[in-house]
Amino acid sequence: MSASERHILIIGAGVLGLSSAWYLQKRGARVTVLDREPIKDAASCGNAGLISFGHPPLTRPGVSVQGLKWMFDKRSPLYIKPRLDGDLARWLWTFHRHCKQSYYEQTMQVLCELGHLSADCFESILSETSIDCDWNRQGWDDVCMYEETLDHAEEEAKMLAQFGFEAERIDGDSLRREAPIYTDSIAGAIRFKDSATLSPRAFTAGLARELTARGVEIRTECTVQDLLKRGDRIEGVRLETGEELTAEATVLAAGVWSDQLARTVGLKIPMQPARGYHRDVVGLDSMPPRGCTLNETFIAVSPFHDTLRLAGTLELSGFNAPWLKDRLTHLTEAGGTYLRGVDTATVTQEWAGFRPCTADGMPVVGAVPRLPGLFVGTGHAMMGMTLGPASGKLIAEAVCDETPALESPLLAAARY
Ligand SMILES: Cc1cc2nc3c(=O)[nH]c(=O)nc-3n(C[C@H](O)[C@H](O)[C@H](O)COP(=O)(O)OP(=O)(O)OC[C@H]3O[C@@H](n4cnc5c(N)ncnc54)[C@H](O)[C@@H]3O)c2cc1C
Repeated sequence: MSASERHILIIGAGVLGLSSAWYLQKRGARVTVLDREPIKDAASCGNAGLISFGHPPLTRPGVSVQGLKWMFDKRSPLYIKPRLDGDLARWLWTFHRHCKQSYYEQTMQVLCELGHLSADCFESILSETSIDCDWNRQGWDDVCMYEETLDHAEEEAKMLAQFGFEAERIDGDSLRREAPIYTDSIAGAIRFKDSATLSPRAFTAGLARELTARGVEIRTECTVQDLLKRGDRIEGVRLETGEELTAEATVLAAGVWSDQLARTVGLKIPMQPARGYHRDVVGLDSMPPRGCTLNETFIAVSPFHDTLRLAGTLELSGFNAPWLKDRLTHLTEAGGTYLRGVDTATVTQEWAGFRPCTADGMPVVGAVPRLPGLFVGTGHAMMGMTLGPASGKLIAEAVCDETPALESPLLAAARY
């Protein structure tokens, strides 16, 4: 069947679902996107907007051990709520087994290739549409308070050169000359020159508008209850209302909730919801000219016109734990030690959302061989905004039986 004769259902109007819809409608398919929420609160709208090509996965050597040390510190960048939970224990054990140098090197190869593809995807989507999302391709800075961390960050950044990404060391005085908002205590920064920043909500909502204008149906406030399975084949979805929608292919891009839906047809995509927070502030005397991370705190910072967004924390507390207010306060308190006036600026918005984190640190992209008709795009953890467009393209290629632009068992849905 040619793409133009196919009806494709996509569950989830985050960056993964919408990017898949973009590449599917370009191939002539009839596409319907379903989301239980309006397009404004999901991770794809509230994230930091750092488009970080060459970003390493969570499964870095030493991270699992460091994570245990941080477990009891409510201000550390990674917080695991101590509790008896079989799924969490299995996830942590698998995660620990993947925090190895050899695996890290394999994952970086794939993620960097995906990063190059995503850079092209962003450029082409933005040139073909009128999405206004503050796209800034001047890179972003990893800002370090101490010489020692700057040296370490420089060593790590050098590794990206082999994958075709450029980084440059900048001393503290040069940084302050460019951007007086940086405090005198900053030692310097590593500039990731190929990366970018954007306003994630403007990109996501803009992409949804462009898709609607091109004939894609986007149904919000429409909750999918389960997947429809006839024999081995996935033939669509059943909504909470009981309505059944059928399609030649179904793309599961429901963020961290994808696992719950996958389980309705006997597939498990084990993920932990890793909560993160953001605080938006206004009223600063000056703004950084580009996004940054505050190295020692793992806080990500993005300027959007007169608003500065500070985002961070990776909190494994399940879906229903109350917000940790300390974490929000920490964003601006710690931010103020790097960026003048941030700790006393006016807070205009606070938000929390979930990153979909797989135990092996890698996204899940493509067909599920044992369930024909089902395709998955999830598990992008801290890299979803960055890699979403490329993964959307790979999903469209898989749905349309094309040779994929990138193929790797590390991304395959077949690993589940
Ligand atoms: C604090 C924070 C900062 C981040 N910063 C960055 C960053 O700077 N750069 C970067 O690249 N990434 C960043 N990320 C990660 C990024 O936001 C995510 O990886 C990405 O948004 C995931 O996109 P998604 O489309 O898979 O999921 P989501 O954006 O979560 O979308 C999934 C959608 O599915 C819908 N859905 C779920 N279940 C159902 C159902 N049953 N029926 C219908 N609809 C359903 C949800 O309503 C939701 O809209 C950050 C994340 C956080 C939390």
